[in-house]
Amino acid sequence: MNESSGTPSKELDFQTDWTYSPAPESTDHIEFPEKNDLFINGKFQPPVNGKYFETLDPSNEEKLADVAEAGQEDIANAVAAASKAYDKVWSKIDPAERGKYIYRIARQIQERAREFAVIESMDGGKPIRESRDVDIPLSAAHFFYYAGWADKLDYAFPGRKTKPVGVAGQIIPWNFPLLMAAWKIAPALAAGNTVVLKPAESSPLTAMKLAEIIQEADLPPGVVNIINGGGETGRALVEHPDIDKIAFTGSTEVGKWIMKSVAGTPKKYSLELGGKAANIIFEDAPIDQAVEGIVNGIFFNQGHVCCAGSRLFVQESVAENVISKLKDRMDTLIVGNPLDKNTDIGAINSKTQLERIKMYVDIGQKEGGQIFQPSCSLPEKGYWYAPTLFTDVSQSHRVVQEEIFGPVLAIQTFRTVDEVIAKANNTPYGLSGGVWTDKGSKIFNVSRDIRAGVIWANTFNKFDPSAPFGGYKESGFGREGGLEGLLPYVDLD
Ligand code: NAD
Repeated sequence: MNESSGTPSKELDFQTDWTYSPAPESTDHIEFPEKNDLFINGKFQPPVNGKYFETLDPSNEEKLADVAEAGQEDIANAVAAASKAYDKVWSKIDPAERGKYIYRIARQIQERAREFAVIESMDGGKPIRESRDVDIPLSAAHFFYYAGWADKLDYAFPGRKTKPVGVAGQIIPWNFPLLMAAWKIAPALAAGNTVVLKPAESSPLTAMKLAEIIQEADLPPGVVNIINGGGETGRALVEHPDIDKIAFTGSTEVGKWIMKSVAGTPKKYSLELGGKAANIIFEDAPIDQAVEGIVNGIFFNQGHVCCAGSRLFVQESVAENVISKLKDRMDTLIVGNPLDKNTDIGAINSKTQLERIKMYVDIGQKEGGQIFQPSCSLPEKGYWYAPTLFTDVSQSHRVVQEEIFGPVLAIQTFRTVDEVIAKANNTPYGLSGGVWTDKGSKIFNVSRDIRAGVIWANTFNKFDPSAPFGGYKESGFGREGGLEGLLPYVDLD
């Protein structure tokens, strides 16, 4: 209001009144069983020990369903079913037939994309825009991509003959439940292996929907088995003597335990672990685009991304400008209902994860870091955390060195290319990174010297099934995606 004249001021109205109307995605068409059983040998079956655990909607803490917890006997049954299917069917059938089954799975995911997207957001807390536009289409794309390789393996590694490895035990985390299942199952099946998959305990529902699709696609029984449970179930799967290969995506801590556990056994293994990606903004970068890239890299999807750009390095001459624009952008981010199409930042996946984020922000402040959080209001029920940035931090701060896996960004400045490369490489991780500059030569120089599996240039968090993804150092080894993603699932003669 213009106080002197009493007439509304247009500028003020725009700033204070402008907001999006709610646009929630409907859940009317969504159905999942109240009790989700184990998927073993082509059938849904209750666990031998009769144990179930709850899966919650993290945005309101309401129970969504009960999920069977696989014990030793169930794991033994699943591995036996996978071994039999490997010996009798899957390693023997015409590879083109294998491809047809995998195409069928891909098409079914596409057909049921909306249902998958809504369940992913309900069970995991991620914004529907993310599950609708990223998780589900990319999952279908992975199955399509590897379906294409099934009958072309002789051309994948010229001059070499490929043989499948056998039964793959696959363990995945909660941040991209369906996508991680697709990354694991699609190349394994294409190369002629059979699978026992264990989803994460806090987001098991889309994997169970995938089991429905696998059943509908008429895959021979035992080719894919999906069992749920927590760390103990994962541990028992890793230790099962008839598993030929372990594929694990999750924390570096569990990855290290897996390495010790399989040492001295003939089991193959690949590990996709944590990250602490550096996003580097040079003074000649397109600043507005870079700010959008930073936001996309760390705040969208609540920072629950292994390759999240959780460290930001800004060249000193543009630091003030970048930080000011970033704070302005953070003020406009919408935190709230994951099913609302306007939402940028959804719920934190679990109470444990929320406590971990709070613990790290506390540590960062105690170590002298300054935080900024926009004045967004967070819902009262559920697990929520406002986007947060740290300034006044240095290389030795724990928020700069350790993976937080939440919407928390640590900002540092730099003056020279050599300085920023040294700083970017100074963590135990090496999964991903980003470079923002107008100069192609700088992109090549910096990305060559940064020890990370993926470097994005003037963009961030972009994926394609034909591009390999994986890490260096404590971010793991083995690649998923692309031709390289077949390697963990074949022996080469
Ligand atoms: P986590 O290691 O706690 O759990 C991952 C999976 O391992 C879950 O299914 C869990 O039940 C299981 N598990 C736990 N203990 C186990 C054990 N002793 N033996 C076998 N399995 C066990 O990790 P999380 O908290 O679910 O996921 C977050 C982590 O995953 C982060 O560190 C993130 O960076 C990483 N991640 C990496 C990638 C990648 O591609 N590099 C992708 C997504 C997530």
